[in-house]
Amino acid sequence: MLGRIHSIDTFSTLDGPGIRTVIFMQGCGLRCKYCHNPDTWSRENPSSKNYTVEALMDIIIKMRPYFQASGGGITFSGGEPLLQHAFIKEVFIRCREMGISTAYDSSLYVSSRIVEKLMDYTDLVLADIKHMNPQRSLELVGVPNDLNLANISLINQKQIPIWIRYVVVPGWTDGIEEVEAMAAFIAPLSWVKRVDLLPYHSLGRHKWDILGLPYELEELRPPPQEKMLELKQIVEERSKKKVVVHD
Ligand code: SF4
Repeated sequence: MLGRIHSIDTFSTLDGPGIRTVIFMQGCGLRCKYCHNPDTWSRENPSSKNYTVEALMDIIIKMRPYFQASGGGITFSGGEPLLQHAFIKEVFIRCREMGISTAYDSSLYVSSRIVEKLMDYTDLVLADIKHMNPQRSLELVGVPNDLNLANISLINQKQIPIWIRYVVVPGWTDGIEEVEAMAAFIAPLSWVKRVDLLPYHSLGRHKWDILGLPYELEELRPPPQEKMLELKQIVEERSKKKVVVHD
């Protein structure tokens, strides 16, 4: 079995607890207007590589002392990692056998059957919420939000810890109404352990030019820190969850 991998960051502190090896999988069906990695969209980007489970495990195993010392592990990201769920399942099974913690970071815009296949082997899900309004979600990322929200509820039901990732995009997702709706949705979900508020920024912008893709958010600037802190307070009050604001 082969996994098509865009890149690997062996030492991340941003993608789950502790020190993590993050595997960025190639391929994504969404088209988020703010995507930092449009070079992961196509399944066949020439700079991506095929890995066997064994080859990837060789890289992961070398990091085990760091995982043990920091409470870290591995995180599959992308692209959309769940498009290659069978490969991920094999890697997760091996990691679990070795006591290595497993996580994935997903839009969750996939069939619930796929999410279920990984449930017995997943320690943490980093779950995007793109937009609470189905039509605005369609406009912003290319799909409505029904599968995304249904899968978050399903993972919560199965009692797997979830960290929500919410990108604050000025004029799109930074409205009080939208943020309150997001907080109200997660408030009753007891396995949502944390919310990460990520400010929109244009990192990766140059990749759109290289790929000849039109970048529609040209005029947008990152939200000011005061706005991020205001939204943090709203989410904390409404959901009673831990909220972390990123730079
Ligand atoms: S889901 Fe992630 S990789 Fe896919 S288009 Fe959106 S931001 Fe980019």
